[in-house]
Amino acid sequence: MTLPSQARIVVIGGGAVGCSIAYHLGKLGQRDVLVLEKSGLTHGSTWSCRGPGGPAAQQAQLTRLMQ
Ligand SMILES: Cc1cc2nc3c(=O)[nH]c(=O)nc-3n(C[C@H](O)[C@H](O)[C@H](O)COP(=O)(O)OP(=O)(O)OC[C@H]3O[C@@H](n4cnc5c(N)ncnc54)[C@H](O)[C@@H]3O)c2cc1C
Repeated sequence: MTLPSQARIVVIGGGAVGCSIAYHLGKLGQRDVLVLEKSGLTHGSTWSCRGPGGPAAQQAQLTRLMQ
């Protein structure tokens, strides 16, 4: 696959956070967004995650980020 040589917005990492950022940028109308992932989408710690929970869910800002 040939990668574009440039993009207006580049997201490094295709985990839950990077994919979510790219998704929401798309929903906001951004069309020139590139996600760079060194392995495979969600192959980082996202691969091990069962779902939102744990101590982070007790902190409002982290819960908002997870949502
Ligand atoms: C064993 C385990 C169990 C867990 N269970 C839960 C749970 O039950 N509930 C919960 O809420 N959270 C859980 N977590 C935490 C949760 O998985 C993480 O907080 C969340 O997945 C982090 O997402 P992320 O997108 O920030 O990082 P990641 O998913 O790690 O994504 C980062 C991505 O960036 C890529 N990357 C890194 N460097 C580069 C580079 N230089 N160039 C390109 N790509 C790069 C990596 O390959 C990776 O795919 C768990 C974590 C682990 C390790």
